[in-house]
Amino acid sequence: MPVRGFCIAAPKSRGLDEFIKFIGEELAPRGVNTLILRVDYNYQYESHPELRDSDALSKREIKRLVAVCKKNNILIIPQVNLLGHQSWAGKTENLLKVYPEFDETPLVKMPEKYIWPNSDGLYCKSYCPLHPGVHKVVFDLIDEICDVFETTAFHAGMDEVFYIGEPQCPRCSGRDKAELFAGEVRTIRDHLALKERRLWIWGDRLIDGKATGIGEWEASYNNTYRAVDMIPKDVIICDWHYERPDQTPVYFAMKGLNVITCPYRVPGNAVLQAQDMVKFRNYSTPEMKDHFMGMMQTVWSGAGPFLDSFYGRRPMTSADTPVNCFKALYTEIQRLADSK
Ligand SMILES: [Zn+2]
Repeated sequence: MPVRGFCIAAPKSRGLDEFIKFIGEELAPRGVNTLILRVDYNYQYESHPELRDSDALSKREIKRLVAVCKKNNILIIPQVNLLGHQSWAGKTENLLKVYPEFDETPLVKMPEKYIWPNSDGLYCKSYCPLHPGVHKVVFDLIDEICDVFETTAFHAGMDEVFYIGEPQCPRCSGRDKAELFAGEVRTIRDHLALKERRLWIWGDRLIDGKATGIGEWEASYNNTYRAVDMIPKDVIICDWHYERPDQTPVYFAMKGLNVITCPYRVPGNAVLQAQDMVKFRNYSTPEMKDHFMGMMQTVWSGAGPFLDSFYGRRPMTSADTPVNCFKALYTEIQRLADSK
């Protein structure tokens, strides 16, 4: 399996030492070779200091992460959520807080108390991909974060985009949502390609949620899925499925796209998904085989809470946890490699 990944929010300064220890003592010995850190605004951007979180990592701190990954032959990839996920629950994220003119749905006000479902259909805000000013800012962030991470790849998120091509947007209303989504993927991909960097995204918007029964979270109910035939073939798809070991990697590989399966909490599913990944690689044509790139454990808490659980400082209330899933996944990957 070429990619053996781990994805988590970037640590905060106070948790950095322990996280670096975790990389050296737990990720590297298990053979993890790809680490995606969700950075967003947890970095002291120099190009856009107005977008920094108040408690953000310094360049020197990032360089410590870069060094430990280099030492252990781990490709480190920063993620900044683009297009969707520009708010979370009742909180607007920094981009739209500072540049509200980029908001795809300016008429949707952030609620005092967030509940789902709600009459606005507000899950997360999106930026408008056709706003004439948005890419200048976004490209500055991409270039700066890739430079500081000294990396050849960037993860743009782009999952769960519920607001796209909205009637209230004067630029996007009436346009084809699949074309809007694919257009934004291509715009970001082409910018990265100028410096020979590759784009990684989550795969959910490219799957038909109705026809597959996979639903509106892990797949799309808003007709973005036709974008699967419009995006550049060198984009790497992180195909996340948490409830079932869905067979969607085959769909992506048959479209000529590179795919990585991403489990989260359920160890039994992660084991099956790892076995499937090996099966897909073994029983595919040479044309498709290399598109099945591997597995990546995803952790949706911060690094701090995950390490609290991992090191036993926080009791586990269930067997289905990211810690158990991570351990089971990498035990299985090792077993599969040994039995080859
Ligand atoms: Zn728009």
